Parts: sequence; C-alpha cells; structure tokens
Amino acid sequence: MNFWKSAALEIYTHIRAQRLTSIHKTMNKSTHHTTREACIALDQQDPLRAMREAFVLPASTIYLDGNSLGALPKATAAAVAKVVTQEWGQDLIQSWNTAGWFMSPQHQGNRLASIVGAGTGELVITDTTSVNLYKVLCAAAELARKQHPSKRVLLSEASNFPTDLYMAQSVCKHYDLRLELTDAKDLASALNGDVAVLMLTHVNYRTGAMYDMAGVTHAAHAVGALTVWDLAHSAGAVPVDLSSANADYAVGCGYKYLNGGPGAPAFVWANPRVVSATKQPLSGWWGHALPFAFEASYVPQIGIDQYLCGTQSMLAMAAMACGLDVFEQANASGGMPAIRAKSLALTDLFMGLCEARCTAFGLINVTPTAHQMRGSHVSLATPNGGYAMIQALIARGVVGDFRGGAATGEADLLRFGFTPLYNRFVDVWDAVEHMVCMLQANEWQRSEFNRTQVVT
Ligand SMILES: *Cc1c(COP(=O)(O)O)cnc(C)c1O
Repeated sequence: MNFWKSAALEIYTHIRAQRLTSIHKTMNKSTHHTTREACIALDQQDPLRAMREAFVLPASTIYLDGNSLGALPKATAAAVAKVVTQEWGQDLIQSWNTAGWFMSPQHQGNRLASIVGAGTGELVITDTTSVNLYKVLCAAAELARKQHPSKRVLLSEASNFPTDLYMAQSVCKHYDLRLELTDAKDLASALNGDVAVLMLTHVNYRTGAMYDMAGVTHAAHAVGALTVWDLAHSAGAVPVDLSSANADYAVGCGYKYLNGGPGAPAFVWANPRVVSATKQPLSGWWGHALPFAFEASYVPQIGIDQYLCGTQSMLAMAAMACGLDVFEQANASGGMPAIRAKSLALTDLFMGLCEARCTAFGLINVTPTAHQMRGSHVSLATPNGGYAMIQALIARGVVGDFRGGAATGEADLLRFGFTPLYNRFVDVWDAVEHMVCMLQANEWQRSEFNRTQVVT
C-alpha cells in the first residue's frame, strides 16, 4: 500500500515547489502537464480501479458528493426490480419468509458489521440515523441514570450535525439532562465528572476532522460517561473498529459512503456489554420478543433486535444490500485498508493542488492535513460566494456541495467528498482545473448561480 503514500507525496511536494509560479500561471496547463499524467499513472496502478465499473456514473460529471449521496451501483436497478416484480408481484406476502425479508435488517446488518468492526448479531439496519440516535441516546441516558444518578450532562460538539443536536435536545428534556456543547479542542476539559453521555460524530460533517474513537471512548469511560458515536461520515469511508474501541453505542447512515440510495435505511449498534441493560424507547412490534404471538404487552427481544421498531421498506433494503455487495467485491482488492489508503492519497492530492492553485482566490483548506485526524472529505473555507461557487462548479460538471456557516458563526464551506470506490486521481486533477478556471473567470458572480435552492 505504501506506493500510494509515496506517489501522492511526490505529487504533493512537486506541487508545493511549483506554488509560486502556478499561482500566476493557473491557466497554463503545460505547467502541470506532467502532474496530470502522473494522476493518470496513479489510476493505472490503482488496485481499486475496477470498482468504478460497479457504478453508474454520468459521463461528463466528476462526482465529489458521495459523502452526501453515494453513487448508484449498477446492480441496484435490477435487484430492486426483482423485489418489485417477483418477490412482491408474484410471491406476495410469502416473501417475508421465502425471500428473507423479515430477517433482512439482521442479515444485512451482519454484512455491514464487518465494515465498522462490530460482531455478528450486534448491528441492525433499520430506520433513519435521526431515529436511531433517539433510541440509543435514550438507552444511554437511562443506563447512565441507573449507574450514576448524579450525572446531569449530555455532552456533544457545537459543530455536530444539527439533527444530532436536535435529537439530543429532546432526549435531554425527557431525561432531565443538560445539553452542553464544546469545541473539539476543548473536549478534554469539557469531559468532566458531570457527563453522563458523550455523543460525537466520528468524522465532522463540515470539516472532515476525525476523532480518535478509542482514545476518546477511553477518556469518557474514565469519567464514567457512556459514548454514542455517529458514523455517518465514517462507515465505508474510514476503518472503524467499534469493538476494539470499546464504544457503547453507534449509529450511521446508509446513503452516504455505503451507496444504499436516497433515504436508505440507517444502522444501529450497541456493545453487547450494554445492549440489554436498558430498553430503547420506541417499543414497536419488530423489537418484541415474539412479534407474531401478538401479545398485548411489550416484551423486548434480547440483544440488538430490540432496536427494531416497525416494518422496514424492502425496496430500500434491496438497494442497501447492493451497496454492501460492492464492499464485499472490494475485499478482493484490499477492502477497507485499500479504500483508506486511496482516500488519503486522493485527499492529499486535492489539498496539495488547492493549496497551490486556489489559495490566491481566498479558498482556505479547513480539513486537518494529518492523516489520522481526517475522514474522506475536504472542505475549503471562503469569505463569500461559496454557494454560487458550488453552483458554478456543478454547471461545469463538478459536483460538490455547500455548507453555510452563517447560522452558527462559522465559515462558509465548499465541501468535496472522495469515494475511493469510484473517484480517480485524474478526477481530482480535473476538478481543481475546473475550480481554477471558474474562479479566474468569476463565473460564480453570474445571477443564475446565486439563486438558492431547497437542498444545498
Ligand atoms: C447525514 C447525517 C445524518 C442524517 O440523518 P437522517 O436521519 O438520515 O436524515 C445524521 N447525522 C450526521 C452526522 C450526518 O452526517
């Protein structure tokens, strides 16, 4: 795997050396000719290069938003069509048994478990990330109340994804906890003896900064706090080892790096150490010990099955399974370690090119450069025009997204996600080339790029 590191480093060093001249000659492609060639050479050596063939990717698009909605696997359309026409259309209700529908949250969960370092039977695919957060936060709050009744704080990060904070606000009301928010750099001091539950997103959705899950979990346990990890920007993007980190609870998203489709079912995990210690609050029949006994009172299943609530969409589950199939195929090319190595090489390259060529336009990288401190997306801060810049890039076929900071007093960010299963080194090169041309021509100032849409 080391060739990634050295090849990416070589390009990065080369680019830094060229920085002064390239800032003034950004349109002069010959300056960087060898570098684009080097990107193509890296693609030719890429052990994961064949994986791109597993995806539908529009011809003239460089898709750098797989951290928001993963691309469509080629196999998905036929797999979903089979569920519709055969399993639903012909076999009808029998498919709950004959097509494995009923056990699919557990069955697909076991396949995903290996990607996040969970054991068999410890993780289910179900509901949304927001709903799963509510379940695990309540379970953790309840357990904390039993173990340490005097602890009154649910601690999280101020720049956590809003839905995580919104869910925490409800849970705090029900459990009489106080939500405290800290910056990542002040986490150690905020993690004091009052903290009952620590809820963090492993890779920050804005900056791409990644926590040391094992270290933070250890520190939380040392003050008697339980940990809830959101893996939305981690699962399928970075190696995660929930078991060896000894985390308590985790949730994550199916439609980002796992490529499960828009609104794909999310997942939930609880450490076997705590999973049956408390009940999750959404006591639906799928989490009942005997769902088809139709008893009047709720009796929870033992283990993670208790975290199921109601009937899942089997169409969505079929698409999710196709996303997991791709990861299984990628195991033959090195699996998660290869994905991580390529992710770091792609993001190193992008950061190096942006530093050399976009700094002059006021774009500043806010993603940590240290490998162990970042996930698989890179964010560039801009003082103004960020939304329009993304729109102008999309018009050029380079799809990233915009994350404004006005509401929370943070910087506006241009965000670019790198999915090693289908993004190439040459895509990185071309994306930066487009960005530089867009910035030089001030394209983002055109009125058509300054009209806000519902989803950014
Ligand atoms: C994407 C994301 C979510 C999404 O939650 P949904 O319930 O699927 O809408 C939640 N948390 C984080 C950190 C995310 O990045």
